[in-house]
Amino acid sequence: MKICFVSIDVESDFAENKNFEGIENLDKILSIFKKHNISATLFVTGNVLRRYAEIVKNWSKHYEIACHSFSHQFWNTLNNQQRKEELEEFSGLYRGIFTRSPKGFRAPSHLIDEEGLKLLQDNNFLYDSSVVPHYPFFKKYRGYKGRAPLFPYWPNIKDRRQKGQMEILEIPVRGQIFGIPLAGAWIARLPFSFYRFLFEIYRPSFLTINMHSWDILDTPQRKSTPAQFLRNLEETLLLLKKKSYKFLEGFQIYESISKNRQ
Ligand SMILES: [Zn+2]
Repeated sequence: MKICFVSIDVESDFAENKNFEGIENLDKILSIFKKHNISATLFVTGNVLRRYAEIVKNWSKHYEIACHSFSHQFWNTLNNQQRKEELEEFSGLYRGIFTRSPKGFRAPSHLIDEEGLKLLQDNNFLYDSSVVPHYPFFKKYRGYKGRAPLFPYWPNIKDRRQKGQMEILEIPVRGQIFGIPLAGAWIARLPFSFYRFLFEIYRPSFLTINMHSWDILDTPQRKSTPAQFLRNLEETLLLLKKKSYKFLEGFQIYESISKNRQ
């Protein structure tokens, strides 16, 4: 079975400014998911959850809602106590809205470390999806810290990029085909026929497609229009469907993999 994990990081626009226009327009992406019955996980920040509780509640009817930290501060700049406070604040808010705890986490800018994974595990998170397993060679990327397994794995407590015995599952962000990123901005920019060609030659049994809530915004720096992004995204998802990929949420991936763990 070939699995594709589709996720959106839902945060303030471009992660740094104080606008939330991407979130207010997220239905443009979600309606594509809905039309083609695509399961996905939305990693929301606490700031988003607090501000848009009702909207997120609505999303949760169709999609898994997971944690993208509270404030989107990078975890390499926070100590363990500060990270813990971020998680507790998020989980408290989440429980108040959903009467259950969040199960999945993605670190802002993919900056996770061993201590962070341990903290997530101690706070009953079941999976993390932060590790970038191969080098995105088009740009220097601060989230990349070395090679890691290309399939979901149980990390080693001494080296998160190695397999080990931890209880938390790592779902690596494996959004690449032959080094070509399969993620929001790239899907928008590259002609769809290019991906179609790549998938003719190679179809890995596990793939991720990650995008951001602000990928749909029109900005002068963009080399593509929002309409182009949405069209290419829809084509790509349809192609994967045709190539018999199954779309699973993070928690569903966790469930299917933990079932088979001895
Ligand atoms: Zn983010």
